[in-house]
Amino acid sequence: MTISRFIPPQRTLMGPGPSDVSPRVLQALSQPTIGHLDPLFVGMMDEVKALLQYAFQTENPFTIAVSAPGSAGMEACFVNLIEAGDTVIVCRNGVFGDRMRENVERCGATAVMVDDEWGKPVDPAKVEQALRDNPQASVLAFVHAETSTGALSDAKALSALAKEHDCLTIVDAVTSLGGVPLLVDEWQLDAVYSGSQKCLSCVPGLSPVTFSPRAVEKMQKREQKVQSWFLDQSLVLGYWSGEGKRSYHHTAPVNSLYALHESLLMLQQEGLENAWQRHHDMHELLKSELEALGIAFLVEAPYRLPQLNAVAIPDGVDDASVRSRLLNEYNLEIGAGLGALAGKAWRIGLMGHTARKENIALCAKALKDVLG
Ligand SMILES: *Cc1c(COP(=O)(O)O)cnc(C)c1O
Repeated sequence: MTISRFIPPQRTLMGPGPSDVSPRVLQALSQPTIGHLDPLFVGMMDEVKALLQYAFQTENPFTIAVSAPGSAGMEACFVNLIEAGDTVIVCRNGVFGDRMRENVERCGATAVMVDDEWGKPVDPAKVEQALRDNPQASVLAFVHAETSTGALSDAKALSALAKEHDCLTIVDAVTSLGGVPLLVDEWQLDAVYSGSQKCLSCVPGLSPVTFSPRAVEKMQKREQKVQSWFLDQSLVLGYWSGEGKRSYHHTAPVNSLYALHESLLMLQQEGLENAWQRHHDMHELLKSELEALGIAFLVEAPYRLPQLNAVAIPDGVDDASVRSRLLNEYNLEIGAGLGALAGKAWRIGLMGHTARKENIALCAKALKDVLG
């Protein structure tokens, strides 16, 4: 076998992530690698932190990027806030809520499940009932934007319920950050994790997280050591914080952090509200194109995610062959259905840099051609 250089094609990424990475971010990624304890790099990390605080709309000092994808941010929140024997209320209205249950159980805690139909938001009335029925619960966990179904849940209302019942919140904001309003401080969210490759349009492999002072206090009062050494945030914090006294924990993914810095800077330069508006406007445009092709949405309008459009595959259409023609003939990737929606839905992403008019025009034309 002769192996030569791998040269990827130029695709348009309209799936559930990764999204298109802008040339500015790719250029940042290719800058010279410097040492991760180099004072210039440390200064850049402080800027990443400030830019993340802006993106999350928080003043939480503990706001960093975990050196691994969104799933590691998820795990970091669970393993640090939950101890064996705890009770956690977990909302499940798609694939990612079930991953939360897995995390809770692997911490040796009990997950009390609140189930909602796929494609529907989390029902606050059910959550309130579960909080009443389980006064011993210490945490409420839910997914803000369910990428598997395209449904947005009311994080503000769910957080208010948790506060009334003296629970902390763990919130999956992997797909929501940068795409729809997410106000960590105003909504009093406690542990929030995201991913670099969805609406931030950075390369995959980093997970922004933020912990409220309440969450930090809970970590400090733990009786048991965090079972994961790498994700133990009390160790990581020493690495991200502290003017001058930064100590080695692990080697930071230096170039990926350049890329995250650039993508967050782009978000700040555009303005968060403008980014939310762009995702909304591009969703409206895509919706009119899809409806003209007779393609229907699976999620009702009031809680539809603009950045992740779950649509029904038209009757008689072969899912796999359409997606492979889009990929091979148009260099266009759209997402397949996940879990219960496999073979029944497409998930058309409009995340970050992908959410632009020319991509919607390409997608509409390609679908029209391929569906005949
Ligand atoms: C993509 C995603 C994740 C996992 O992120 P990875 O970067 O793939 O590990 C978690 N939750 C939601 C809602 C997601 O969309």
